[in-house]
This record gives sequence, C-alpha cells and structure tokens, in this order.
Amino acid sequence: MQAAPETANDRASPVIVAGTGPAGLIAALGLACAGFNVALIGPPVRADDRRTTALMMPALGFLESIGLRGKVEDFGAPLRTMRIVDATGRLIRSPTVTFRAAEIGENYFGINLPNTELNRVLVEAVEADARIRWTQSLVARWEVGEDAVRAQLEDGSALSGALAVAADGRLSPAREAAGIRTISRDWKQSAMVVNFAHARPHAFTSNEFHTENGPFTQVPLPGDRSSLVWVTRPEMADELRGLPDPELSRRIEDGMQSMLGRVTVEPGRQVYPLAATLALSHARSRVALVGEAAHVFPPIGAQGLNLGIRDVADLVDAVVKYPDDPGSPAALSAYASRRRPDIFARTGAVNVLNQSLLSDFLPAQLARGTVLTALNAFSPLRAFFMREGLQTGSGFRAFGSTVREQIRR
Ligand SMILES: Cc1cc2nc3c(=O)[nH]c(=O)nc-3n(C[C@H](O)[C@H](O)[C@H](O)COP(=O)(O)OP(=O)(O)OC[C@H]3O[C@@H](n4cnc5c(N)ncnc54)[C@H](O)[C@@H]3O)c2cc1C
Repeated sequence: MQAAPETANDRASPVIVAGTGPAGLIAALGLACAGFNVALIGPPVRADDRRTTALMMPALGFLESIGLRGKVEDFGAPLRTMRIVDATGRLIRSPTVTFRAAEIGENYFGINLPNTELNRVLVEAVEADARIRWTQSLVARWEVGEDAVRAQLEDGSALSGALAVAADGRLSPAREAAGIRTISRDWKQSAMVVNFAHARPHAFTSNEFHTENGPFTQVPLPGDRSSLVWVTRPEMADELRGLPDPELSRRIEDGMQSMLGRVTVEPGRQVYPLAATLALSHARSRVALVGEAAHVFPPIGAQGLNLGIRDVADLVDAVVKYPDDPGSPAALSAYASRRRPDIFARTGAVNVLNQSLLSDFLPAQLARGTVLTALNAFSPLRAFFMREGLQTGSGFRAFGSTVREQIRR
C-alpha cells in the first residue's frame, strides 16, 4: 500500500514522534541529537504528576549522551542500597535481601527524582532544540504506507515522514494503525503515590516491602524525605488516598516497620490503575514503538521508564545507520531484534514476581523464597542480578569475563 498523497497543508519531516510523555520527549531529543529533524506531536506536558522516577545507570548514560544527566541529577537523590523485605504474613517467608551498588563497583544504582522536575528539564531541552518542531495537538488518524507514514492532526494540519515513533502511551493509536497486536492482563491493582518526611535519615536506601497485595516501596528523595509507591487492591488504594494525614502517616510508618522513625505525609496523593500490556512486535510498517506503547507493567524494581529509555537508545542506534530512510524495513528490523530480548526478559521477570506475591499457590511462594534465599546467601549471584537488573546481558558479560579470568589463571 502507498501512503495517501500529501495535501497542500502537509509538512514533511523525516521523523514524526507522537506522544509527549517522558518517552516521547526523550525520543525527540535523542533523534534530534543524532541529526534528524523531528516533528513532535502531543499535548502540553502534565504539571501535576506527583510520582517520582528512579532512573538507573544505563538511562542516566543515555541522558548524558544528550547533555541532560547533570540537569536531572541536580534534583534527585542517589540510590546506593536497595532492599527487598518480605512483609507477607505467609507460612513461607523469604530473608531480607540487600543489594549494594558498591558490591558491583558503582557509587549508586541510579537517581530518584520528582517527575515534575524530570518533565521540566525535558520540555526546556525540547523547546531549545531547533531541530524539533512541537505541534501541541493529537494525531486524529494515521495512514501507514510502504514509503511514508502520514498523521492527520486534530488541529486540521497533517504531517508525513519516513518514520513514526509511537510514544503515544498504553493505548497507542499508532501501534493500532500499524496492526501490531498486544497481549494484556488486568492485575486488579492500583498504586497510591505520596511523598513523606521522616525523622531518621534514609541513608540513600530504597526499601521494597513485599505484601500479599503488591509491593510497598519507599525510595529516597533529597533531604530526610522519601517517595512511596503503595501497590494494592484498587478499593484499598482509594481508601488510602482519602485518609486524614495523621492516619496515613501512621499507616506508612507501620508499613515501613518504623525503619525511618516518625513519618509525616506531604500534600498531594494520586492513585494510578495498573496494567500489563506487551506488544508482540516492536516495529512494523514504518512505525517503531517506544515506552508504554511497547510495554506496560506494574512498578516493581523501577523498570518502566528505564526500559523506555533503552528503547530510545536502541532506536537511535538503529536508525542513525539509515539517514536517508530511517523507517526502512532494514532499520526497523534492526531495532525490533535488538529490543526483543530486553523487553521480553523484563516484562516476564516483573510479571512473575508480581504473580508470586499475589498467589496463594504454595509452590509459587516456595520458588520466590528459594530465589531470595539464594540471593541473600551468594554474593556472586547477587552481583549477577544487580547487573542484569541494570541492563539485560551485562550480568552474563561480567560472569563470562570472571570465568575467562579464572581460566587464564
Ligand atoms: C506509580 C508508578 C511509579 C513508577 N515509577 C517508575 C520508576 O521509578 N522508574 C521507572 O523507570 N518507571 C516508573 N514507572 C513507569 C513510568 O512512569 C512509565 O513507564 C512512563 O511514565 C511511561 O511514559 P510514556 O512516555 O511511555 O507514556 P505516557 O507518559 O503515558 O505518555 C503518552 C503520551 O502520548 C500522548 N498521546 C496519546 N494519544 C496520542 C495521540 N493520538 N497523538 C499524540 N499524542 C498522544 C499522551 O497525551 C501522552 O503525552 C512508574 C509508573 C507508575 C504507575
């Protein structure tokens, strides 16, 4: 099929990026830094997002390559230690596992910062980049063709390009237009998010308490403050959102087993319904998926946007080799085959872990307990998991070089 012919008010740009969430903004910046002119389509960025994002080393590395690492680090707290605590009341309980960045020779795993600051830094960078033209509208209709892709916008204008980057979120109209199928699962969970101050210092440690309803995760912010992502049943998340401040503070202190002393919640709570969706292909018909258009899963181990940023990094690497036709089948197949192992491994691991928390099935709990016991006992295994947690394949690479080293000796 050929794309529909351009009309008089069509603008041509080699790359169209649809979506102005963090994945879309970072994709626009990454592609512009690689030398492409980018047409960015999406509404003004929301200023009321109360979440924080833990950005891990590989994501920070990509932000550094586009000149933004220092700017985001200014607003975040480093994550030096990450702890998993079994807070279930079940028969089979796992030991607490502590991961220290120093064990793998790093100062920290990443930085946790408020989404408002992250979005502000990204928007300022987009607005300052002459290669990005941002139209604050929505794509009303996509036409995908062999030679080009065309976006008809709600404001009446239209755009065509050689490549469309779908950063248009979990329902992704661009993904739909490209005919990419998905599999989804409703976990019947929501996340209540709130920030809080505490009496004792957090020592740059994040604590993920595993409960029967999902993880309850505290992540350090600058000062004696932390953010909380409390994953639970939707009706309980709504109830938590409505509690008076002193009652919620007490519930959080209990959930934290008083590790940080007295808790005082800050204003502003939000509830996010959770889902799991996986696109069965990551690029097709001149459309490449990044961020939640490609993968959605519950916030366990701070994986979502980190994976989205790795999508962008791999997309830029793939298409930069095809400057004359970045949406060509060769460019898109290089992108899709690079992303497949990382996305499938990450989605599988997060969903299996979530399932093992919610399940009353004894063998599932036993398997989880066995893995956490082994992680607690064997530091090489812990190091392997820490490296793999940061970047798929890096644990295997480090393990391989240790083995080679041993053989050489
Ligand atoms: C409680 C919680 C905590 C989290 N914590 C972390 C964390 O610590 N670390 C981490 O890595 N990840 C975390 N995540 C995941 C992370 O927030 C998401 O991966 C990320 O926000 C997804 O960004 P996105 O840009 O892909 O999608 P979105 O933010 O959903 O953006 C989609 C964009 O597409 C636009 N759009 C939709 N339709 C159209 C259209 N037709 N035309 C143009 N634009 C369109 C929308 O307006 C929006 O701008 C967390 C998630 C939750 C729920």
